[in-house]
Amino acid sequence: MSDVDHAPKYKRVLLKVSGEVLMGDQPYGIDMKTVAEVARAVGSVASEGIEICLVIGGGNIFRGLSKAAGDMDRATADQMGMLATVMNALAMQAALEKIGVQTRVQSALTMPAVAEPYIRRRALRHLEKGRVVIFAAGVGAPFFTTDSGAALRAAEMGCDALLKGTSVDGVYTADPKKDPKATRYDTLTYQQVLAQDLRVMDASAVALMRDSGIPIVVFSIREEGAFHRVLRGEGAFTVISDNAPSA
Ligand code: UDP
Repeated sequence: MSDVDHAPKYKRVLLKVSGEVLMGDQPYGIDMKTVAEVARAVGSVASEGIEICLVIGGGNIFRGLSKAAGDMDRATADQMGMLATVMNALAMQAALEKIGVQTRVQSALTMPAVAEPYIRRRALRHLEKGRVVIFAAGVGAPFFTTDSGAALRAAEMGCDALLKGTSVDGVYTADPKKDPKATRYDTLTYQQVLAQDLRVMDASAVALMRDSGIPIVVFSIREEGAFHRVLRGEGAFTVISDNAPSA
């Protein structure tokens, strides 16, 4: 840790981790080593007193809009996708509790034997008590994604920022894995993301964050210490807000 370790900029945040991150280097499924890495990052930030909401995607297991869904109707396939997010949420809960971080899973699809149902006031209470709340099953309806679920819960929980932890350290002009000339944006406005169809998150999620005035911070959760740094405005990331880009 450097001498210039600034104070965190946010008190309560929502971290969205896509399912793809959890598969690590595997082609699909859950890599518990990677889940443990993410859990360590979350645990270290939680120990500083920052209140953390977590939304985990399900793309590492099943997506409604995918080849695996075949000719299944979209609503049923999406329900399977939502169940996938519950599996990931339980894996994350197990990894967090293993390192002593108190958590609660709240699911938008009720399954009381497995997780609490989503109850806004109860979730707020958990956060106040320092528990990490993992929101599973997105918004609980088909035709949505966990990006929308993350935006909705960030707004409902009154989060100061929505952090999108991906395997890339921000939003680029092109796919940095394919185009070596791609450059990273430091800042973007919600409107630029929507107008240029930058595909950082679903348009509905970006629009909800714009209307709620909650900044979206895109960073790489795979880099050690990145979550901690980003909360201090350090390291590499892209911030999406109403502020016009500096350049
Ligand atoms: N899903 C849904 N409604 C929601 C959230 C998720 O129907 O509110 C389904 C949808 O099929 C989606 C899948 O769950 O493709 C997994 O979520 P997502 O694609 O957002 O996961 P990620 O890309 O973040 O891993």
